[in-house]
Amino acid sequence: MRKGKIIIIAGPSGSGKTTLHQRLLLSGRFKRKLIKSISATTRVRRRGERDGRDYLFLSRAQFLQRIKSGFFLEWKKVFNDFYGTPKKAAEKLLKAGKNVLLCIDVQGAREVTRQYPEAVKIFIKAPSMAEVKRRLIARGSETKKDLARRLAVARRELREAKRYDYVLVNDNLTECAKKLKAIVSSQI
Ligand code: ADP
Ligand code: 5GP
Repeated sequence: MRKGKIIIIAGPSGSGKTTLHQRLLLSGRFKRKLIKSISATTRVRRRGERDGRDYLFLSRAQFLQRIKSGFFLEWKKVFNDFYGTPKKAAEKLLKAGKNVLLCIDVQGAREVTRQYPEAVKIFIKAPSMAEVKRRLIARGSETKKDLARRLAVARRELREAKRYDYVLVNDNLTECAKKLKAIVSSQI
């Protein structure tokens, strides 16, 4: 059986990665072919998020223990919290010929590319920083301080776009989701 591919969706906080990958997974076209890797994180759960579906929510001690035991394919500290991609689940899926979707930050994307140079990398950005700010405020998930940190990091992360196979500007959501589906279709 052909080995599956890794598809990475990365980009600054507030660019729309979560919204877009959820739309992608809802599409019948990718059913059973594209599986989202569930990351682990130490950050607090947002309203509506479910453990094991959106993230594996771990305490710091649990996360650090898993780093030690080699549980992660990659892990990074993002905005003061830890985030990581579980290794075994991804490897098992790839071996079974499934394609694995990673929705991770740009540092993690670099690490995954180092290990899997053939991974397909898609960068998502919002039309402007003002729009990122507006969306993060509307999402209402961060404190003022966290919001400022996310915006500062977003500016820096935008410079990474040139390393990606595809760059999508998430202005009109429907249009962007359509483009994303077309890219993924062409790759798997
Ligand atoms: P990320 O996962 O990259 O941090 P989200 O998918 O959580 O971003 O999107 C941030 C906020 O912006 C969410 O409240 C989402 O509903 C909203 N959003 C996403 N895409 C668009 C868009 N094209 N137009 C307007 N709002 C959007
Ligand atoms: P959020 O707290 O908004 O869900 O995510 C914050 C950032 O962490 C986002 O850029 C998100 O893509 C990233 N992220 C989520 N899971 C992982 C992961 O497993 N590894 C890395 N490196 N980043 C992740």
